[in-house]
Amino acid sequence: MKPVHPDASTVAPMIDVDTTGIASDASPHDVFMRAALEAARRGMLAGEPPVGACLVADGEIVVTRSNAVIGELDITAHAEMRVIREACRQLRKLDLSGSTLYVTVEPCLMCLTACHYAGIGKVVYGAGIADMNAVTGNELAAAPANDLPLKLEGGCLAAECRGLIVTWSGSRQAGSVS
Ligand SMILES: [Zn+2]
Repeated sequence: MKPVHPDASTVAPMIDVDTTGIASDASPHDVFMRAALEAARRGMLAGEPPVGACLVADGEIVVTRSNAVIGELDITAHAEMRVIREACRQLRKLDLSGSTLYVTVEPCLMCLTACHYAGIGKVVYGAGIADMNAVTGNELAAAPANDLPLKLEGGCLAAECRGLIVTWSGSRQAGSVS
């Protein structure tokens, strides 16, 4: 399979997103995507956006979750984030390298970044994010209600903040903090 789909230009370059084979009847991805689809359907019945995800390691499903932003009143409770959180808890580790995340809709930047931090090696998705944006609008591009863009201001108490990092780094090297 090709490592990167030619239409994956909207995806952060840190992760290979492979969409090849998804449309094939013989795709080995289908079983896992069907598990993600089932979670998406359950979520939709519960009033959530219809997105489901599952994490697969060594050919086995580790965790399957739906989106739950509404039920959990958690704006970060995307299906992928919930899968990653639960997989790390179940497997008692932060490194999910070697695993593949299946998700019914192309991940947003938050979820792709979480995949990157978790070391997930591959993301397989069904619908494109444009399919969701066609219904919800492009949430990342939309201005907040007050019509002001998100502001980013750096340097506030920077010396103290940097000092904590230096202290933490020293502790890690001494083995007292992991
Ligand atoms: Zn997301």
